[in-house]
Amino acid sequence: MYLCLFSSDRSATCCYHLTMLLALMDYNNLWRTMDKMGMEIPREAPWRAPHAEEWDNMTMKELLDKVCWTSTARRFATLFVNVNVTSEPHEVSALWFLWYVKQCGGTMRIFSTSNGGQERKFQGGANQISECMAKELGDRVKLQSAVCSIDQSGEMVEVKTINEETYKAKYVIVAIPPGLNSKIHFNPELPPLRNQLIHRVPMGSVIKCMVYYKDTFWRKKGYCGTMVIEEEEAPIGLTLDDTKPDGTVPAIMGFILARKSRRLAGLTKEERKKRICEIYARVLGSDEALHPVHYEEKNWCEDEYSGGCYTASIPPGVLTQYGKVLREPVGRLYFAGTETATEWSGYMEGAVQAGERASREILFAMGRLHSSQIWQTEPESLDVPGLPFVTTFWERNLPSVGGFMKFMGVSSFLTIATVVGAVAYKKGLLPRS
Ligand SMILES: Cc1cc2nc3c(=O)[nH]c(=O)nc-3n(C[C@H](O)[C@H](O)[C@H](O)COP(=O)(O)OP(=O)(O)OC[C@H]3O[C@@H](n4cnc5c(N)ncnc54)[C@H](O)[C@@H]3O)c2cc1C
Repeated sequence: MYLCLFSSDRSATCCYHLTMLLALMDYNNLWRTMDKMGMEIPREAPWRAPHAEEWDNMTMKELLDKVCWTSTARRFATLFVNVNVTSEPHEVSALWFLWYVKQCGGTMRIFSTSNGGQERKFQGGANQISECMAKELGDRVKLQSAVCSIDQSGEMVEVKTINEETYKAKYVIVAIPPGLNSKIHFNPELPPLRNQLIHRVPMGSVIKCMVYYKDTFWRKKGYCGTMVIEEEEAPIGLTLDDTKPDGTVPAIMGFILARKSRRLAGLTKEERKKRICEIYARVLGSDEALHPVHYEEKNWCEDEYSGGCYTASIPPGVLTQYGKVLREPVGRLYFAGTETATEWSGYMEGAVQAGERASREILFAMGRLHSSQIWQTEPESLDVPGLPFVTTFWERNLPSVGGFMKFMGVSSFLTIATVVGAVAYKKGLLPRS
């Protein structure tokens, strides 16, 4: 949308400010609307939201087209979807995306670094969690042993791997993304809804790119290393400073997201690195970005046992029709994995919640727990409490662009009517008594 009809410098400045004001109103209304819609959606059963069907039949793009008046807000909203779920707005259900944002605490919490989803890192890397758990579990952890069949026709559940090993258990927890269940043969066959669900939940698309430098040159310029890049030709959408906490190994981590990961997958690693360094140089205003000391990347789309990342993304129509079987046990099979979580689904936090819930479901089935104990709320972290986001008066009350236009339309009409009325009165065209 462009409202400029003037030619003088003053008019152009005025027009620029008006455009900025409209964009600001549009952004503000977008976040407010998404959070407000999210409030209607139950975390544990989004398919029960009052407008579930209407919103699930709509793509996120259709919703953004309805809510956003300015291309500025629409472009940023597209990036917001790309960053959070590594998918395009036209690929995902509006109901699912609104639920996703809601169960991460809302638009501010999910996108913020400080006091938000991106704030903390593990010193030494997140992989230590799996490594430490594996150490405790010893040889019960089997690597390179993909499960290819699960048979629960006998007394015990039999799990076979592609390297022809067989394991037997009373109960089994399947903790992989729902789509990857289709690599497993189930006996008896899965119930119809579950069997179709696993073909309807694609994984997101992302290439994670690490550029290492000899020093943190961006910090010297006063930059934190977070870049949010909208430009269509830019490979990367979001970056974070990934230098070690003690200041060693200066690095910028960046994501090639959704459509761009598909578009750039055909380039060589060297070409991707070059394009990434060029955009960093432009955004940071420094040629130092052109001279990395090392580059690493991981295209999650090619990882056979992930199928993509960070998580499954749900297209329109799926959540309302299949959502309720997402974590519904099938015989002695129980389902975990981050996609089945009700808080921070799509994140490690969600994976832990889901694993604990599935274990308690089995304890309940074994008669060791009461059903009321299956769902337990994680206590608020004492080390890293999520502080509330305080909104300003303007964030709460600034009109939407639509509301503003209506108001301007009505007030312009009233102004014109008053002027016409006054002239008519003066000329004696209106009765004076
Ligand atoms: C690039 C990227 C960045 C991310 N950033 C963050 C972040 O900053 N913070 C955060 O909290 N989360 C982040 N995530 C998401 C996080 O990694 C996931 O939410 C989390 O790992 C999900 O855990 P999970 O146990 O559900 O599944 P997974 O971690 O996917 O584990 C499933 C495991 O099952 C294995 N598997 C699959 N099929 C079979 C089979 N047939 N037989 C045997 N094994 C099988 C897989 O190989 C895998 O090891 C990120 C993800 C990616 C890809």
